[in-house]
Parts: sequence; C-alpha cells; structure tokens
Amino acid sequence: MGIIPTSQENSRTPSAEAQQLWAKILDTVRADHPTIVRLWFEDLWPQDLDSGSLRVRCNDEFQRDHMERQCGKAFNEAARLASGRLVHVQFLGPNGRAGPSTPPRSARQLAINPDNTFENFVMGPGNRLAHAAAQAVAEEPGKRYNPLFIHGDVGLGKTHLLQAICIRIMSQHPDWVIEYVSCDEFTSQFMEAVQAGRMSDFRHEFRQVDMLVIDDVHFLAKRDRTQEEFFHTFNALYQTNRQIVLSSDAPPEDIPDLEDRLVSRFKWGLVTAVEAPDYETRIAIVQTKARLRGIVLGEGVAEHVAACIDSNIRELEGAITNLQIRAAVDGRPVDLALARETIAAPQREDAQASATMQAVLDAAIAFYGVKLSDLQAKKKTRSIARPRQVVMYLARKHTRHSLEEIGGYLGGRDHTTVMHGAGKVAELITSDPSFAAEIERLEARIAGDARG
Ligand code: ADP
Ligand code: MG
Repeated sequence: MGIIPTSQENSRTPSAEAQQLWAKILDTVRADHPTIVRLWFEDLWPQDLDSGSLRVRCNDEFQRDHMERQCGKAFNEAARLASGRLVHVQFLGPNGRAGPSTPPRSARQLAINPDNTFENFVMGPGNRLAHAAAQAVAEEPGKRYNPLFIHGDVGLGKTHLLQAICIRIMSQHPDWVIEYVSCDEFTSQFMEAVQAGRMSDFRHEFRQVDMLVIDDVHFLAKRDRTQEEFFHTFNALYQTNRQIVLSSDAPPEDIPDLEDRLVSRFKWGLVTAVEAPDYETRIAIVQTKARLRGIVLGEGVAEHVAACIDSNIRELEGAITNLQIRAAVDGRPVDLALARETIAAPQREDAQASATMQAVLDAAIAFYGVKLSDLQAKKKTRSIARPRQVVMYLARKHTRHSLEEIGGYLGGRDHTTVMHGAGKVAELITSDPSFAAEIERLEARIAGDARG
C-alpha cells in the first residue's frame, strides 16, 4: 500500500530524521499502548519535523479525527519518550491540513471510527439483509430504501453499519453534507434552539442536508415536541429524496411512545434487523478484529474466543483486548494456551465438571442408538456427526478432560474440531428449544450416572 501525497507542495520526501522518529514512536506506541494500534498506522506518513512538531499525514479525515481524538495522548507521550525531547505529533488530513477539510456542521456530530467500514464488517446469517441494504443505500442514496431502519440488541453492529454508510458516501460524494447524530444530540440541539429562539437555524441545519443518519432513534420516545420537529424534518428530507438512515434497539412499532405517524413513516422504506452472530460468524469477527489490530492469532484462538463468548460482539472485542494486554505484559504470543488462561469457557464450571467420559459416551450411545465405533470413525453423515458433536459439548461441560483428551476419546480428533463441535451445539441450544430439551435429557442421564 503506497502512500501518495495528494498535493504538490508536499510531495517532497520526509527527512530521514522525521522518518526515524516516526518509526521509533510507532514502536513505542506498540509496546506501551498495544490496544490502540491498528494495521493502518503503517500507512500514516511522516511529512516533516519542524520546530518540535512532527507532522504526520493520514489517508482520510476519519483517520485524522480518530488519531487526534483517540490516540493523541499516547502518541505525544511516545514522541517524548522516543526523542527525549518535547515533540508534539500533529496529524494532518490527506489535503495536508490540520483541521477537517469541511468544518463539522455542529460540534456534536458523532465521531466516525475509521475501522467501521463495509470491508471490516463480517457478514453472517444474522446480519446479511441489513448489510446488503446498507450497501445498497450507500451505493444509491435516496433511491433504494428510504428510510433504512436497522434494529437489534446492543453490540450487534448497528452503529458499525451506519458509519460504514457514512464512510462510503463521503468517499464517493466528498461535497455532500451528512448529518450523523445520535438521537440525544438531535433532541438536545432542538431544545437549545427552542430556548435560544433559533429554530430557523436548527431547521436550516437539519433540512438542508444530503443525508440524515440518526443512531439509537428509540431515545426519541416521550418527547412530544422533538417528535413533532423530527416528523417535519423527516418529511422535508423524504420529499426531496434525501436518504434517511435510522437505528434503534427495537422495530418501529415496539418503540414505546413513538407517535403512530412516525411509526408508519419509519416503515416506508426497509426495516431490517441485526441478530446475534452464530459461531462461524463469531470466529470470522475475531479474526477480522485481530487482523485490524495487527495481532497474529495462534491456531485455535479464534475458535476458543468464539466458543466462550456468545453474547455480543462488543464482548468479543473486549476479549481480544484482554488477550492483547496479557500477551504484551507477559511478552508471549497470542496462542491457545494464553487464550485459555485469559478467557474461560463459561459453561465449564467446576462444580459441574464431575462426570466421567464414559458416562458421557454411554448416555449419547444409548440416547441416539449409535455405536462407539461410529462416534470414533471418520464418518461425517449427520446421524453420526451430530451425536459426536453432542458428546464434545457434554464432555466440555461435564468432564474435566481437555479438548485434546476429548478428541482422543473420539477417534483422535484434534482440539479445534472438538471446540468447533461443542460451539456448534451451544449455538443450536440457543436457537432450537427442542434440541435444548434433548440436551437436558442427556444431561439428566449423565447426572443420574454420576450419582448412581
Ligand atoms: P450497536 O450499535 O448495534 O450496539 P456496534 O455497531 O457499536 O453495535 O458494534 C459493536 C462492536 O462490534 C463494534 O466494534 C463493531 O465494529 C463490532 N461489530 C458488530 N458487528 C460486526 C460485524 N458483523 N463484523 C465486524 N464487527 C462487528
Ligand atoms: Mg450503537
């Protein structure tokens, strides 16, 4: 990935001094603040070192804003350590300017995280539709789905998709004015405008935009006057084919106290949900996040994290951060051993882990009417593969055997296969109540065995 200076006057190569200092700063940040490091830091470009200020070019405004807001302190500290002097790091946009190319419409516009692109969004069964709709909107704003309404529980990628739309549109229409605010901000700006008697400014700001993106619109609830104003904003934009994108923790009809006329408008375009990721998607997300952070994951690490954490994606990221910190502190690679020490499988509570492998195998053999030799064979037919995975799951949960040992009992399968199988079953349990009941019956048998 080459870094091409975008304006002529800055096309001279950076001084060797600036380059060396920047390399040292990056190393220092990697060592002292591993969790903020992203792979794209490699693409930042030291322009020059001038009177105590190292000026570093970013490839877009999102990166520049992000560096300034989220990483400024770490880089300045690293610059002092690396140079032994009071050097300040100044981040510039692609145009070589320090400030954003277009000043923000309002100070409270939300910051966009440069990592939240479509490229970094992992598709899975739970978000395929939302992802496709978001892409369609980003390609043809105002034409396809208007409004686009994405709803779902916390930490499942709503904000990521909203920001991906903003990033894509801003790169394709740099001159567009995009208002990207949280619902709270819309509300508080409105209240302030009312109090200050500046309603026409407020209306001008929100009704002239090329696209309006409001995150967490469920907070609109119960504020009559804001809903009224929002209704008119919506109409003004909709009538002129401006794209509107909304996210919420619930579908329109389930947002408490939302006026009917807004509920119906929110459904004019496309209402789509993001749902919890399945095991495979979680693995891919862990791998994507690790790649972004430049972490090399040992074999089986992504599977382990995905098997242990099945709630939301923010927690998956938290787990990666923990791994990263632990690895940096102990000076170890991010391998399976480290992952096991750092992130425990929640289902493996020691009080429960009292059954023998024999008891688990016996229960499965009797319940499914399969033979031990089938469970141990290579056969992958569903009638055998599923009971085998159930054994993996139950052995993980109810015995003290390691993944390798469980694999050994099942014809010498390796630990990732066991982890994968157990993860699959855990997944099915949450999605299929009759399967969950089946597992419960099996567990009762195993418990009976342990007591008897
Ligand atoms: P929400 O707004 O729904 O609460 P976010 O969009 O803030 O959730 O997502 C939480 C974290 O999970 C973010 O860091 C986001 O990048 C990440 N994330 C969510 N879904 C995905 C996905 N499908 N692929 C990659 N990362 C994801
Ligand atoms: Mg969000």
